Amino acid sequence: MSDFDYGVFIGRFQPLHSGHEAVIRSALERVSTLIVLVGSARTARDPRNPFTYAERVEMFEHVFRHEITTGRLVLRPVADHLYSDPAWCAEVQRCVDETILDLQNGGGIGLHGLRDVSVALTGYGKDRSSYYLKLFPEWDNIQLDSQYGTFSSTDIRRQFFQRIPVVPKTVVSDEVAAWLDTFKMSETFRGLLEEAEYLASYPTEWGRGPFVTADAVVIQSGHILLVERGRLPGKGLLAIPGGFLDPNETVRNAAVRELREETRIRDEKGEIPPAMLASFIDDRKTRVFDHPERSLRARIITHAHLFRLPDRRQLFEVTGSDDARAANWYRLGDLRPELFFEDHWSIINLMVDL
Ligand code: NAD
Repeated sequence: MSDFDYGVFIGRFQPLHSGHEAVIRSALERVSTLIVLVGSARTARDPRNPFTYAERVEMFEHVFRHEITTGRLVLRPVADHLYSDPAWCAEVQRCVDETILDLQNGGGIGLHGLRDVSVALTGYGKDRSSYYLKLFPEWDNIQLDSQYGTFSSTDIRRQFFQRIPVVPKTVVSDEVAAWLDTFKMSETFRGLLEEAEYLASYPTEWGRGPFVTADAVVIQSGHILLVERGRLPGKGLLAIPGGFLDPNETVRNAAVRELREETRIRDEKGEIPPAMLASFIDDRKTRVFDHPERSLRARIITHAHLFRLPDRRQLFEVTGSDDARAANWYRLGDLRPELFFEDHWSIINLMVDL
């Protein structure tokens, strides 16, 4: 007889390591079913989040095959909401409720039936980053000490991205070690390695900041103007046009300048002059985005400006230029979070109220 019907364990598992495994095995002794929420899902790969949700599920399947097959361990993806813990909490709550309703389906419980189900959050307060364990007072808590408390995914990734990467087998299971060895042979790994090396050299070349940037969220007739990044970091990812502030300009002027430089935006009369572009800015929506982890390069604080261009059948013409390999209009309904650089998906969502 278990102490709780359901346990919830939240993590990034980048990668799944022996500390996680120990916590999961202890939790499985106390709950009938453990729901593992795999966080930071649906983001573009970068050296901090190198593995997709599907790849992290593969790691779990190698280590917990029996528990997954017998339904004792269930995996679900949860996306980050960098600028809103309440939005993230809501996604976690919904995901757990829907999972329980799905699993209980045989018992035919409705939403009200959820009240009769006991749920406990499992976690190990490793450091400041585990503050989220306090965000769910409605659930019981299973606090676990771990004999593996010194292992951290950050250290494992650091070794993984060294030129001759060696991940000691004591910190990840043999199955995950083998999975990581195979991943190291891939083209994807080479791309991530290049990115990791670029990011490691960034502070020496540019400093650690804080730096100020300005971004342009440009909307016209249900479309958004985006650039494809032509350089590291995030080469090939989509981004909102923007860049670093010049010493003698305002952030508003920087947003206009970067927009013109990266997209060469023009109408029938030619390139749109700065003053005219600036007149499209909705000043009530200008907003600072300053999450400390928003960039892996340095501490970079950006000021996003919303440009509302006039609706018309023929969208303004654009051409990728400067840092941008391409510039194009995208239908707002077609955007997918995993295509975006850094926190640009979050910025668009909050600026455009998607
Ligand atoms: P993680 O993979 O580092 O850790 C997952 C769990 O394992 C945590 O409880 C952690 O304390 C535990 N753990 C880690 N190392 C351990 C060890 N050596 N021994 C025993 N236990 C260990 O993941 P995390 O960073 O805690 O993941 C939280 C997820 O929730 C992330 O995806 C994060 O982005 C997300 N999150 C999002 C928001 C938001 O979007 N607003 C807010 C909070 C958390």
